[in-house]
Amino acid sequence: MKRDFAALPQQSFDLLVCGGGIYGAWTAYDAALRGLSVAIVEQNDWAGATSSASSKLIHGGLRYLETYDFKLVGKSLKERTLLLHNAPHRVWPLRFGVPVYAQQRLNRLQLKLGLTLYDFLAHDPEPGMQHRYFNAEKFTAHFPALAGASLKGGFTYADAQTDDARLVLELIAGAQQAGAHCANYCKLVQLLETGGKASGAIVRDQLTQTKLEIRAKQIVFTTGQWLAEEPPSRAWCRLAKGVHLLMPAVLNDEALLLTAQADGRVFFMIPWYGLTLLGTTDTDFTGDVDTVRADDNDIDYLLAAANGYLKTPWSKADIIGRFAGVRVFKQPAKTASASSPSAVSRDWELKTAANGAHYAIGGKITSSRQDAACIVDTVCAQLGVSQPCATQHNRFPWAPQEAFPAWFAAMQSRAAQLGIDPECAKWLLHRHGTQTTGIFRSIETDRSLAQRIVPSLPFITADLMHCATNEMAVHLDDLLRRRLPLLILTHLTQEQLQRIALQAGAVLQWDDKRMQDEIERCTPWIAP
Ligand SMILES: Cc1cc2nc3c(=O)[nH]c(=O)nc-3n(C[C@H](O)[C@H](O)[C@H](O)COP(=O)(O)OP(=O)(O)OC[C@H]3O[C@@H](n4cnc5c(N)ncnc54)[C@H](O)[C@@H]3O)c2cc1C
Repeated sequence: MKRDFAALPQQSFDLLVCGGGIYGAWTAYDAALRGLSVAIVEQNDWAGATSSASSKLIHGGLRYLETYDFKLVGKSLKERTLLLHNAPHRVWPLRFGVPVYAQQRLNRLQLKLGLTLYDFLAHDPEPGMQHRYFNAEKFTAHFPALAGASLKGGFTYADAQTDDARLVLELIAGAQQAGAHCANYCKLVQLLETGGKASGAIVRDQLTQTKLEIRAKQIVFTTGQWLAEEPPSRAWCRLAKGVHLLMPAVLNDEALLLTAQADGRVFFMIPWYGLTLLGTTDTDFTGDVDTVRADDNDIDYLLAAANGYLKTPWSKADIIGRFAGVRVFKQPAKTASASSPSAVSRDWELKTAANGAHYAIGGKITSSRQDAACIVDTVCAQLGVSQPCATQHNRFPWAPQEAFPAWFAAMQSRAAQLGIDPECAKWLLHRHGTQTTGIFRSIETDRSLAQRIVPSLPFITADLMHCATNEMAVHLDDLLRRRLPLLILTHLTQEQLQRIALQAGAVLQWDDKRMQDEIERCTPWIAP
């Protein structure tokens, strides 16, 4: 993957996509696969905003059954099945436990009905995806960290999980491979019109401050929370903040769907890279969209919610990492706007302004492929192009062509020969898919690259070097927050950060001053 800023003004594009989160990535990839000439610009890093701050679930959303959002749940479950098939390295099944306690808002029968409906809407042919019930003893064996006093038993049901930032990155790589021009750290600063119709934009290279003009017949804004900054999209959005914490490992390989005792909201505890992802909050957001942070109230809420269920409660000292993101909702009808963010539909809408520019409002990572297909259908209709969507059937850019279990087993045994420990090998294959072959080659020439970067996390040095060399990282935090999320998964020491910066800097050709600046950018994340 190479950053492509200089090539942007050299042609007039069919489509300019502004915003490199999941919606922009799918739109650019889909349009490039249909043969359109495409440019996509992202003001920061790919997936630098909400698309790296989600719960990392590819799910129907069991809780949306309570608000009778069957259409959205069905649509999302269909996408879940499709992604599990087209991207088995990137999206993998994850079972969730739902405990049944003596006193709780939804009783066993209500949960049973909901889960039966969920299975029915999924129409999943895989037998392992159906829900099951366990008595208290067996359920506790699945989730030994849960306090058991009034536990009567519990259900487990299947959904799926991903690494959201890497999902976006793989799609950007796919878009580039299909001919799209892709530039991160490139901000759209002005929309240009000809005869009242959007016809291009001025973009600014965020690294050099150079400005240039891009001409495009169609323009799509997939700018997430920044939609709320400018007319006309400001009027179409409502924003809500969601916070996650990274906590010590208390789960095996299954997640938990729980209900916060304070307000009855659903929250999750999810295994992620060997730790526990705890989230999320869901509160209206009216602050500065450029600085979204977890504050003390968010942290207190999540710890209290989790501690309502844990045998050994967590304190603030147990927090390993944290991140916050902003969800965009379609602005509901006036009467409904006072309802809590959790009650607002997660569904998505495409709006087209009077000047012909399109705006993607709301949505979910899970359903973004299908929504992007609608965006590109609309763009194609405007361009008079009749070319069907290919993303429904295509394997992902880094998905193996052969049967996934056989490929996975063969690659794991090669990893073992190279001295990569099994946990690191598992994650390497999920993170890089077929690109892992290149990583293996680098280890063949230097066996020390098979070592973990830090002992507690399942990432090896060859992975870091691969990301630095091949994945369009500009800054150190691009590498360490999104491509390889060390900054949220451990408290790196200054020495560890220095060492990593030296290794990455050698590839990215940083001088001493740049190295210091890059370390400085990461300092807010690291141990005092
Ligand atoms: C807490 C939380 C948990 C969630 N969990 C899940 C989940 O588990 N599963 C799920 O399916 N969905 C989940 N979602 C929803 C999902 O994360 C979002 O729907 C999705 O990430 C939105 O993607 P996006 O591309 O629209 O926006 P973003 O990811 O925010 O991308 C917009 C991009 O546009 C760029 N941009 C803005 N202005 C400009 C400009 N002028 N020039 C260039 N670039 C610009 C920004 O820098 C940004 O990178 C969650 C959301 C939140 C907040």
